[in-house]
Amino acid sequence: MGLEEYRGVYVFAQQVDNELSGIAFELLGKAKDLAKDLDTDVTAVLVGSDVKGLVDDLAKYGADKVIVVDDPELKEYRTEPYTHALASVINEYKPEIMLVGATAIGRDLGPRVSARVQTGLTADCTVLEIGDFPLRAIPGKEQKHNQLLMTRPAFGGNTIATIACPDNRPQMATVRPGVMQKIDPIEGAKAEVIEYNPGFTPDNKYVEIVDIVKSVTDTVDIMDAKILVSGGRGVGEEGFGMLRELADVLGGEVSCSRAVVDNGWQSRDIQVGQTGKTVRPNVYFAIGISGAIQHVAGMEESDIIIAINKDETAPIFDVADYGIVGDLNKIVPALTEKLRAVVK
Ligand code: FAD
Repeated sequence: MGLEEYRGVYVFAQQVDNELSGIAFELLGKAKDLAKDLDTDVTAVLVGSDVKGLVDDLAKYGADKVIVVDDPELKEYRTEPYTHALASVINEYKPEIMLVGATAIGRDLGPRVSARVQTGLTADCTVLEIGDFPLRAIPGKEQKHNQLLMTRPAFGGNTIATIACPDNRPQMATVRPGVMQKIDPIEGAKAEVIEYNPGFTPDNKYVEIVDIVKSVTDTVDIMDAKILVSGGRGVGEEGFGMLRELADVLGGEVSCSRAVVDNGWQSRDIQVGQTGKTVRPNVYFAIGISGAIQHVAGMEESDIIIAINKDETAPIFDVADYGIVGDLNKIVPALTEKLRAVVK
């Protein structure tokens, strides 16, 4: 079968406990752009048990079709039945592009599915677009059009690589939560629903779940915060109390750089950057953060970036909208006091 027979942009619509994950909507937003360029449509693949009630939400966020694989074996995420479900959908419906979230589930599922259907997968993409590959015509090398160009940081974030999968289908990519943007919901939108069940026969690759223990955490998700007060090594362990005060005055949350996590001062849940979370709040305070490329990768899409650093040559000032050069130990308390007076 020729590669041109593979059509459509597909999204793995991740759900947990019958609730769609935010990444499903974000991927649908990106899929819509890609489908427009390819003059095709967007299909969500919904895998689970009793999940049909989620179809309309997927339609609202851009799915033209939803393939539902519904089976009691799919109640909780388990590697083997989910891999079988998604790989079977790919073999049956032959999508041109398959997008998966780079969540804990997607990182387990995506590579296995790509191996099973014998195609490539580019992990942790930050940009996805349709274009020619190779990017420039190279004598003697055929340039292919309408390829999925998958861009991601490479070599520890020191360079950016654009990768394509010209000889196999589907072209598969994972994208981390927070990187792509969902569309404004279209109220009343309906999708064509296709029910498909490849059959599930438990074997010795089916893990048996004995118990599920949910982690209890009182930290909020920094990806939802409108205002983030982020601290780096320059803040020091004790200084985070001061950052919390500033965040409280503004109704925001505290986040941090990796240096802070590596020092054991704050938990990994609130780390921003390439190996942390990608955030795009309305306002991002970068306090005592140098602005290493791996940190910037996780916050540069913030609407307004305010940097406080004593080193005027710190790279964080290259991405900041407002920069304050000076000692954070003096600036942060003064700023908090001023804001307390004006913010009710
Ligand atoms: P530093 O670079 O030490 O900067 C501290 C800053 O504080 C300096 O600019 C200093 O001038 C300033 N400062 C100190 N005292 C004061 C003061 N009194 N007043 C004002 N300013 C002061 N990093 C991340 O953050 N997130 C990631 O996800 C991430 N992933 C990575 C992945 C890989 C593969 C690698 C190799 C690295 C990664 N890093 C990541 C690490 C990254 O390269 C940097 O080491 C890290 O971001 C530095 O953290 P920092 O800015 O807090 O510390």
